[in-house]
Amino acid sequence: MANFVCVRCGNRWSMKPDKDGLFNGYGCPPCPKCGDSGVDENDYGEFQCLECGNIFRKYGNGGLTFGYLPKCPICHGNSRIHE
Ligand SMILES: [Zn+2]
Ligand SMILES: [Zn+2]
Repeated sequence: MANFVCVRCGNRWSMKPDKDGLFNGYGCPPCPKCGDSGVDENDYGEFQCLECGNIFRKYGNGGLTFGYLPKCPICHGNSRIHE
């Protein structure tokens, strides 16, 4: 079983890989709810907002957005990697 999380709606689900190690033909299957791309549940980054201190997680690509640190979902301030 592999666990996925949807980057858009936050839906979580589990799937069994087929004989090729794929999920319905995908490496990362689309979300069964909204159809956006799912990512491996373990592929995330944890960040802290520099403005309001909010700690949040972003899934996919180590949590980076196009290779950059993501913005705070509350105040849209800059973030740093939370350790
Ligand atoms: Zn979704
Ligand atoms: Zn913030």
